[in-house]
Amino acid sequence: MSLRTHCLRLVWLFLLLVPALLSAQGKVQKSDDWLVGRPQHAVLDRLEREADFPNVPLSSGLVVVVTIGGASSESLVIGPVAGAAPRYAEVLNGWQREFGGTNAVYWSQEDDAAAAVLKDQRGRIGASTSTMALPVGVLLQRLRSEAQDVKLAVRLPLHARLHSAPKPVAESKGYVYYDLSAASVETILRVSARLPAWAPWLFWGFFAFVPLVAFAALGAGAWYGSRSGIPIARRRKFYPKIVQYPIYGSMAVHAPFAFFTLTSRQLYPIADLWLGSTSALVFSPLLFAPLPVLFLSTFLMARIERKLFGATENGKSDIPPPPEPTPEMRQHLAQIQRVSYLIAGIGIAFLIAGWVFIDRKAVGSGLVRFGGISILFLSSSLARVICRRSVEIHESPVGDPVLEAEVRELADRMETAVRSAKVDRSALIVDSVYASVTRSGDVRVSPRVVIELSQEERRFLLAHELAHLKLRHFRQRLIWVYAPYILGTAPVLTVFLSLSRPEFPKLPPGYAFGSMVIAGAYMAVAVRILFKRQEYEADRLALEVTGNLDAAESALRKSMFGWTMPHMHDIDDQSTHPAMSRRIDALRKLHGVA
Ligand SMILES: [Zn+2]
Repeated sequence: MSLRTHCLRLVWLFLLLVPALLSAQGKVQKSDDWLVGRPQHAVLDRLEREADFPNVPLSSGLVVVVTIGGASSESLVIGPVAGAAPRYAEVLNGWQREFGGTNAVYWSQEDDAAAAVLKDQRGRIGASTSTMALPVGVLLQRLRSEAQDVKLAVRLPLHARLHSAPKPVAESKGYVYYDLSAASVETILRVSARLPAWAPWLFWGFFAFVPLVAFAALGAGAWYGSRSGIPIARRRKFYPKIVQYPIYGSMAVHAPFAFFTLTSRQLYPIADLWLGSTSALVFSPLLFAPLPVLFLSTFLMARIERKLFGATENGKSDIPPPPEPTPEMRQHLAQIQRVSYLIAGIGIAFLIAGWVFIDRKAVGSGLVRFGGISILFLSSSLARVICRRSVEIHESPVGDPVLEAEVRELADRMETAVRSAKVDRSALIVDSVYASVTRSGDVRVSPRVVIELSQEERRFLLAHELAHLKLRHFRQRLIWVYAPYILGTAPVLTVFLSLSRPEFPKLPPGYAFGSMVIAGAYMAVAVRILFKRQEYEADRLALEVTGNLDAAESALRKSMFGWTMPHMHDIDDQSTHPAMSRRIDALRKLHGVA
């Protein structure tokens, strides 16, 4: 369980850190690409190849690229490195004022060009048709007073239509290109666009389907979980299914749909007509919009789950209280939590600073973001390291000769090697009956295993952990779960890498992200199947070695001690462990007691 969490965290850390680090390097070396970034370079390359336009760095003259849809336009002026970018911006501003425009104009002095851009955004939410007129002839004339040679390209998305269009010079990736360098001063671009009838459905399906299903499932779970008329055992059984299955199901349905929507650029017409944007990236915040509501709803669900799966008053009196007074350990745990929130807050502050307040051109701004991400992901580990100093004794596992002897005896019988056997008094597990083993053979148990389990019960629990070693379960997990997952997520790395290293070969982003989604789904299913099978196998071998069914049963029952929600162990929908009742049934069957 903890191994998997660590692996996942490492994978994510790896995925996030590599691009952060590389983009930091890229920033230092290449200084800057702000207005003329990678997408604009691709456009310039195409124009150079197919319409004989000059490419950057220009020696003289200007290249103007006007991207225009039904309700959005972007007029980009690119000149030589020595050109006066603020001057281009003034020309653009004067031009738009003449026709009543009041949009912001940006300029940037770049290492391979001087550039200015004017973005006109006129979208209206719900609009299904729209038209635009842009007097580009006048702009050409004004710019000719800045430079002799001015080339004008118009880039039109496929959902828009240009009235009285000349012959296109190039076509690619959802756009048609026109060369209007020879346009007269009267030339006005008239563009009309119409939203395909199914586009709004695609849009709402893309952004709202999964959140709506999730809210409905949470609502249904809350309603069902709190119906006192239904027997509690039944509610415990069906509550997790009601909440989880629709959410996973909707994600599975959504993945191929999302893949189609993104690869076929179906969101672009909506970005244009509804928000007046020349890029569908404008919708990115929508992906995160449901998160605050989902986050708040977890508090409501936690209340219901405490009632459903928490210890009943009767159950509480059956279970002995924790063996030692632990207020200081609890304090320690609370302290770790506070410190880790604090550290996470610092990480978030670094991230925000790196993205918002520090100039993207500044040397080292990438390093600030890199630091923020690292701090954020390592916050709980860092908190442990910092807090360990103050309460050393509760954190370091202590040796126990009796436990050690029991483990060695079992290991000899099972012909497997252990390295150490110790009592772990750390705050996280001190209240529980808990045993674990690492890949390299370090057995750890919580104090309650030594104090409250009989020798026979403890032998079963320890034999179960050793069985994971003996049966090479860690290697199985690596081969069947972690390795395929890492392989499936690796293509996404090439996409991130290519952000800062254009020469780096990359897979189309749609395929790379699709492969990551499939790998994630595969891992979720594989964990459920493999880990549960391994628990049954370990139980079976442990019973064969110890031979005491009663002790095995009571050891399993006692491992529910000390959990705030002991009845969670009744559920079969957990990812790694089968329901306790099923494990006990399986053991009885082995012994012929059905
Ligand atoms: Zn196990």
